Amino acid sequence: MALEQGRWFDRAEYRGDKWDWELSSGGAWSPVPNVRQADADYPIDLDESDITVMNCNAVGGGTILYNAIWPRLLPANFRTKSLFGIADDWPITYDELRPFYEETDRQFGVSGLEGNPAYPAGAGPPLPALPFNEGAMCVARALHRRGWHWWVDTNAIISTPYDGRHPCVQRGTCMQGCNEGAKSSADLTHWRPFRAKGGIVLTGARVRRITLDEAGLANGAVWVDQNGGEHFQSADVVLLAANGVGTPRLLLNSASRLFPQGLANGSGLVGRRLMLHPVATIVATFGGQGERWQGQNGSTLQCLEHALHDASRGFAGGAKWSLHSTEGGPVMTSLTVLNRQCGGANYHDEFDRRLGRSLLMSIMCEDMPDPDNRVMLSPDLTDSSGIPAPKIIYKTSEDSRRNLDWNVEQAAKLFRDAGAWDVQISNPGGYNAHLMGTARMGDDPRTSVVDRWCMSHEVPNLGILDGSLFVTSGPVNPTSTIAALSLRAADHLAKTFATMPRPRRGSPETAPRSIEATISAPTKSAPTGLEGRNAAKFAAIGDLLIPPVDALPGAGTLAIASGWASRALDARPDLRAPLERALDRDPEDFAHLLSNDPEAWSAMATLVAAAYYAHPDVQDRTGYFGQLPRPQTPDRYPAYIDEGLFDHLLDGEWKRRWQDHLN
Ligand SMILES: Cc1cc2nc3c(=O)[nH]c(=O)nc-3n(C[C@H](O)[C@H](O)[C@H](O)COP(=O)(O)OP(=O)(O)OC[C@H]3O[C@@H](n4cnc5c(N)ncnc54)[C@H](O)[C@@H]3O)c2cc1C
Ligand code: SF4
Repeated sequence: MALEQGRWFDRAEYRGDKWDWELSSGGAWSPVPNVRQADADYPIDLDESDITVMNCNAVGGGTILYNAIWPRLLPANFRTKSLFGIADDWPITYDELRPFYEETDRQFGVSGLEGNPAYPAGAGPPLPALPFNEGAMCVARALHRRGWHWWVDTNAIISTPYDGRHPCVQRGTCMQGCNEGAKSSADLTHWRPFRAKGGIVLTGARVRRITLDEAGLANGAVWVDQNGGEHFQSADVVLLAANGVGTPRLLLNSASRLFPQGLANGSGLVGRRLMLHPVATIVATFGGQGERWQGQNGSTLQCLEHALHDASRGFAGGAKWSLHSTEGGPVMTSLTVLNRQCGGANYHDEFDRRLGRSLLMSIMCEDMPDPDNRVMLSPDLTDSSGIPAPKIIYKTSEDSRRNLDWNVEQAAKLFRDAGAWDVQISNPGGYNAHLMGTARMGDDPRTSVVDRWCMSHEVPNLGILDGSLFVTSGPVNPTSTIAALSLRAADHLAKTFATMPRPRRGSPETAPRSIEATISAPTKSAPTGLEGRNAAKFAAIGDLLIPPVDALPGAGTLAIASGWASRALDARPDLRAPLERALDRDPEDFAHLLSNDPEAWSAMATLVAAAYYAHPDVQDRTGYFGQLPRPQTPDRYPAYIDEGLFDHLLDGEWKRRWQDHLN
């Protein structure tokens, strides 16, 4: 029995194949729960956090919106204390986890290239690598010239038909959900099969607290339905998988006479040591009239050259680089141009030389565990069921800042060597969804919350199966490790279940067998549109931002005349208030808003761009007709192999240098 506060999504809802895919990612489909504010979401108090937390509260959790980059932790990441004298060692090794990595790779359906020399030998990804584009080739050549590590990245995205699912069609909208079902989200790979085998997924079931019997064994959960009704679900074993923020929140909300500081929190470590992987991004734009670089988003290539700690760099920890195939579609491109020059005569030339020709490198740094970075209960914020919300206290460390600065400098140079004519840096990035460390694993109950099998030291039939139990963050995306640890824990649980102490059943089970109908897709509010004076001003300002070109009028006139401006506003009702502030200005005064009221400026520019590039005549001019599917056949002997771009890694100095880190 699984209790999930969200609902099942229908793939047809995802925005990737709709005109508003970029627009809605800042509203109802934002990865930030505090922006999205859907029924299933809980607010997160971020007043004292340098990083904004992203998640998705639905069956499948964050994997609905994730990029699906699927690397494993490196062997050295499990032993940072012994090897480098920093952070802590895990109680388990890479080798112990390897068979579970291999099995979860198969369960999810992971694509990539075998033989990555940064990892020990073992089974590689079960599916062939996803396609590479010419942009990624330019970067791979530049990495090869430096003699640095690079490899085709592994993604939980299927490159060939697999498990009854269609392969990736390179739409590039993975962060808006995958319309094809090619991205391996847990609703498809695990929850549907679980249900098919008779498991029950209760949706709209928000757990308020875990309950205990008199002996201190977990015996169930109190949960609240969408109408505020309270229920009890009894259990012999309770497993928490609510992520690195939701799980400590639930443990702290489950404080009781036996556990006054929070359930399983005798160590005082529940909520502490939060690691969030600070990230920087670099967007590089290249010239040429080549094919547009649409692809998975997902990562095309990884660079682990700087992934391990090196004291000579002057900071603790390493970083992983991941290359994403494109920065975005026309709205994002338009905002890049407008933010720099606020429209103007050469707007269209600037736009044309950027659209689809940029690559994004994300640089993710290994976060050091610090007990002062933590999840606690917010003193004044609750969710819609009245349950105390989590509050995050997180300061980006000096190590992380230096780490990002150092790597960003290297990556910017690399992009220039690869031929980029423009490089834009965002450092630090400010958002992440890698939520780790808040109920760490260990052998000693005084310094850890769960044991090596992910079960609580203090409550033997309570387990944790998410990023909370990470001892160190490593510099790589965490979900493949979360999955492997969960499978390992489940395997052990199955073997030891017969001898596990059984709790005394508490109150009678009152949970209904299914309440799936209680949460439905959000209904749209009645369209309100733009009329009269507002419409005239929108047209005037829109024409200044994106002026007439060829036979087309300016963007404002076109958007109002065609009704696309109103449709854009209906898709983002949250932009109405800042838009009205923008429309209060004289058109000539509008440029000043960029510094005086950036929110109003951004609302106006976003709506103008979204409405303009949705218009069929504009799509004809630019050749952009949405994120169109591009079915691909995996190429098993691609250009990077023919060109020998891996040769420096497979033999010689690099391999000898890395050898020490493989065990
Ligand atoms: C935009 C985005 C991009 C990402 N990209 C990547 C990537 O490329 N690679 C990578 O490795 N990771 C990525 N991640 C992170 C990845 O999604 C998470 O690591 C992964 O989903 C964690 O799985 P989980 O099961 O631990 O938690 P989650 O996926 O967060 O699932 C927790 C579930 O618990 C439910 N829940 C929480 N509290 C309660 C409660 N009290 N009662 C009932 N239900 C509750 C939630 O609704 C949610 O469905 C990304 C995430 C996002 C949002
Ligand atoms: S790029 Fe592939 S995985 Fe991503 S949304 Fe498109 S089809 Fe799905």
